[in-house]
Amino acid sequence: MSRPWRRWRPPRRPQRRTDVSFELIDTHAHLDDERFAADRPAVLERAAAAGVARIVVVATTAATSRVCVDLGARHAPLFATVGIQPNHVTEAAPTDWDEVVSLVGAARVVALGETGLDRYWDYTPFPQQEDYFARHLELARRTGLPVVIHCRDAEADVVRMLRADFEKHGPVRGVMHSFTGDLQTARDCLAMGLFISFAGMVTYKNAQPLRDVAREVPPDRLLIETDSPYLAPVPERGKRNEPAFVAHTAALLAQVRGVAPEVLAEHTTRNARALLALP
Ligand SMILES: [Zn+2]
Repeated sequence: MSRPWRRWRPPRRPQRRTDVSFELIDTHAHLDDERFAADRPAVLERAAAAGVARIVVVATTAATSRVCVDLGARHAPLFATVGIQPNHVTEAAPTDWDEVVSLVGAARVVALGETGLDRYWDYTPFPQQEDYFARHLELARRTGLPVVIHCRDAEADVVRMLRADFEKHGPVRGVMHSFTGDLQTARDCLAMGLFISFAGMVTYKNAQPLRDVAREVPPDRLLIETDSPYLAPVPERGKRNEPAFVAHTAALLAQVRGVAPEVLAEHTTRNARALLALP
C-alpha cells in the first residue's frame, strides 16, 4: 500500500506569477466576510500571483447575496452565488427568499447557494432547513443554475433529498462543497451527477480517511476550494484562509492522487468552468 501522506511535504508559499504555469479556480470563498474588509485588493493580488484565475464568492444570506453580486461586478476574477445557508435560514425574513430569486438574473451569478442541511449547529429547525434546501433545488431546475451544497453531520438527509430530486428530474447539477463525508456518500452523490469539492481540511494530518475518499473521485468530477476565511490548509493552518491558499490543497490532492500538479490544476479548472459556466 502506498502512503501518499508520508511522502507529502508542505509546498512552498505561492510563487510569483511568472513562476506559475497553470491556472486554479477557488470555487468557494466568502470574500464578503468582514475579515477581508481592510485588505481585499491585496488578497486578490496574492490569489493572482498564486495562479488563481477565478474565485466564486458564495452567499449565505439575502444581504450577502447582494454583496457577492456587487463584488462580482467590481473585481474581474470574481463570480457570485446567491442563496441562504441553512444556519442562516432561521433569521431570514419572508421577503429574503424573494430577494434571492430576484438576484438570480444579475450579472456574474453562476450558482445558487450555499444551501443544504446542517445538524451540527442546528440553529435552524430541521424542517425549515429542508424547506429552503428544496426551494434552492427547485430554483436550480427552473433557472438551470447549479447548486452549492453545504452538508454537516447530515449526509443521509442530504442524499435523501437529492435522490428525491434526482428521481423526479434526472442528474443534479451541483457541487458537494467542502466535502467531509465518507466514500459511500461520495459515490451516492457522484451517481446523481454531482461534483465533489475539497477544502483545507483534506490537508490536515488526521484527515487520512478524507484523503482516501479524495483519491476515488473521478478526475472529471473533482473541484477545489478554500471556503475562506475558514479552515486554512496546511501549511497555513490557523491563519485567516484566503484564495491563494487553494494552491496548497491542489498540491496535496495531486500527491494523494499520484498526478502532476499541472494535471490536477487542468482537471479541476476545466471542471469548475464546466459546472459554473465560467469564462
Ligand atoms: Zn461556505
